[in-house]
Amino acid sequence: MHNLWPRAESVDDFRINLQAVRSRIEDACRRTGRDPDSVRLLPVSKTMDEAHIRLAYDAGCDFLGENKVQEAWRKSQLMSDLSPLKWSVIGHLQSNKARLVAKFASEFQALDSLHTAEVLDRRLQQEGRELDVFVQVNTSHEPSKYGLTPDETETFLRQLTPFSSLNVKGLMTLAEFTTDAKRVRECFIRLRTLRDRLCETAPAGFLPTQLSMGMSGDFEIAVEEGATVVRVGQAIFGARSLPDDYFWPTR
Ligand SMILES: *Cc1c(COP(=O)(O)O)cnc(C)c1O
Repeated sequence: MHNLWPRAESVDDFRINLQAVRSRIEDACRRTGRDPDSVRLLPVSKTMDEAHIRLAYDAGCDFLGENKVQEAWRKSQLMSDLSPLKWSVIGHLQSNKARLVAKFASEFQALDSLHTAEVLDRRLQQEGRELDVFVQVNTSHEPSKYGLTPDETETFLRQLTPFSSLNVKGLMTLAEFTTDAKRVRECFIRLRTLRDRLCETAPAGFLPTQLSMGMSGDFEIAVEEGATVVRVGQAIFGARSLPDDYFWPTR
């Protein structure tokens, strides 16, 4: 699996990888009659060092996803000179680290607790900042995954309405870890179906329309099923040396 994604070592490597991912997104859009502009590619730079991230930035990556908040914060401080560079925290957040997210992140994609939402909102008010958020939904029925069940999501969204510093943009999911493309697709269909149902009953002005789903191994399936954000790390940066269960620990 690792040699599938050689490490990008130059701005040109990043340009080539980005172009390859974009053209695969475009193909998936073409197959399903979607507008490629309706899909945002979020490059995921977790575990990558400053030098590699600067190369990616020079190749046009100015909004980066990081799974762990402390790592994201440290990188944001190191690279504060790259001025349009924005950070999206895409991994589970303990409420005691919400303060840090409120300081620097532009987006948080893994909201699944009311307490974390409360702390985030209070800290954002203090900072005079706002944050785009995605609610994480567990579509794979794997107990080890973070996220709300689809059934809990509607109530949770209603409970978020008082938090005026949180701009709820949509839903996020991780598909089941399997090489069975059919089961991966079912997770994405579940998220889209949930979004469609929620939009029928959403409070006015509170439409969580976006779908963040799809990673290096499955983003084309996600785009075919309606993803508006794909979070792609290894297909852009190259393979990581850490195993994935480091990022998605068992609860
Ligand atoms: C690491 C990560 C990704 C990207 O995974 P790749 O295999 O590198 O594309 C996407 N979403 C989340 C939540 C992640 O932690």
